[in-house]
Amino acid sequence: MSPSNRSIPTLGVYAFFLLGLTTSCSQDSGLLYESLKSYTDEIRVINTHEHQRWCEENASMNHKLSHLIQSAYLMSDVVSAGGTRIDSGQLDSMTMDEYWEINGHALEYTRNTSYYSHFLAGFQKLYDFQDPYFTESNIEGLSTEVEANYTDYRRWFDEAFQAAGFELMFLDQYWNPFNTEVDEMHYALVFHINTLVMQSSSKPSGEEEGPEIYQLAGEEGMKMQTLDDYLVYCDHLFRRNVESRAVCVKNSMAYSRSLDYEDVSYEAARELYERPSSSLSEKEAKMIQDFMFHWIVQKSIEYDLPIQIHTGYLAGNGNQLDNGKPVKLNNLFLLYPGAKFVLFHGGYPWTGEYAAFGKMFANVYLDLVWLPQISREEAVHALDEMLDAVPYNKFFWGGDCAFIEESTGSLEFGKSVVAEVLAKRIERGLLTEEVAREIILKIFRENAIKVFALEERLSRSF
Ligand SMILES: [Zn+2]
Repeated sequence: MSPSNRSIPTLGVYAFFLLGLTTSCSQDSGLLYESLKSYTDEIRVINTHEHQRWCEENASMNHKLSHLIQSAYLMSDVVSAGGTRIDSGQLDSMTMDEYWEINGHALEYTRNTSYYSHFLAGFQKLYDFQDPYFTESNIEGLSTEVEANYTDYRRWFDEAFQAAGFELMFLDQYWNPFNTEVDEMHYALVFHINTLVMQSSSKPSGEEEGPEIYQLAGEEGMKMQTLDDYLVYCDHLFRRNVESRAVCVKNSMAYSRSLDYEDVSYEAARELYERPSSSLSEKEAKMIQDFMFHWIVQKSIEYDLPIQIHTGYLAGNGNQLDNGKPVKLNNLFLLYPGAKFVLFHGGYPWTGEYAAFGKMFANVYLDLVWLPQISREEAVHALDEMLDAVPYNKFFWGGDCAFIEESTGSLEFGKSVVAEVLAKRIERGLLTEEVAREIILKIFRENAIKVFALEERLSRSF
């Protein structure tokens, strides 16, 4: 089915937002919201963070609505409500009725969440889906449309990409971090560096193959026996990414360890690296990793690559929340004024702490990515507070999704949050509409072009 090109949403969640605005605020605020939201639709968006995958990179080539729910953030809320994660092979042979039988109740309990609403918003924008909720009676028809689009996903992806208003997406392939070939019509490469840090404390012994980075180095004829060997190979990976026009480095280590990176000396790290990795205590393994991340920050300065860092809340249904507390990164901001740090996700739930870094440090930027999907209301509140505290050349927006429907819903959500906050600020006499429009343009496009040096790339025709 063709995507619609509506610039103003009609029914569904957006109607709720508009209704809320026009009833709780003055008529002016509702009109201002509509005017600003329409303006966001004119912008060709630079989306600073995505995990889009082609169908062939997924476990299943089959794509029904149930497969999309399964790989959407929404699934975490469904599980949290008591639903069941089903593997994609089983989904292949399951009708939507059977799926509803298993997860329908849990799905209904998520109708209030931002994960649900932004997922739905993608279908409202791209499929003209008008119902306010997914129901037992409407999911079969919608699923048939999804399947039809996914028979030629690349064509569908491009059509939806244009309809959503994207110009460029930064692609973080955490599942394939050494791949440097991406479709430059849509994507800019992100150098995902978790492996370089985490595997530095897992050196293979004897004839062991070792983790991925050691295998890859072996295939390229490089043996890594000393820390110097390891650093030479990591520098080689940096250069390969720079040659492939990577726009930044990405750290999402909060999923597996704390974000506090001690300043460990080269000598101490070299000594620890030379010992068998199996003999290292947890603290010693962390010391090598800490050294490596400091080394990566220094290399990022040398290669002029901003460093994106996951902070705050962790996706999924079980992890150590305080791993990603933004304040743990404070020592790095002080030590490396020449680096550009981009903090992700509003540091939720530590949004105030997160904002303080954007205010304190000229080299710390704030990416609103994913915050509106985690909690729309917190995004509204936090962005309003951030606009009191932080200059507006410090913000970006990203989607953080695995498929185009969810990215589109994320963008619709992000736009509605920014328009709502700015409309209320104009109404309170804190901004003119002219400056509000400039803030919109900076958040969704121009700040990214400047900080990630995209001018030349965007002027190139393919
Ligand atoms: Zn992400």
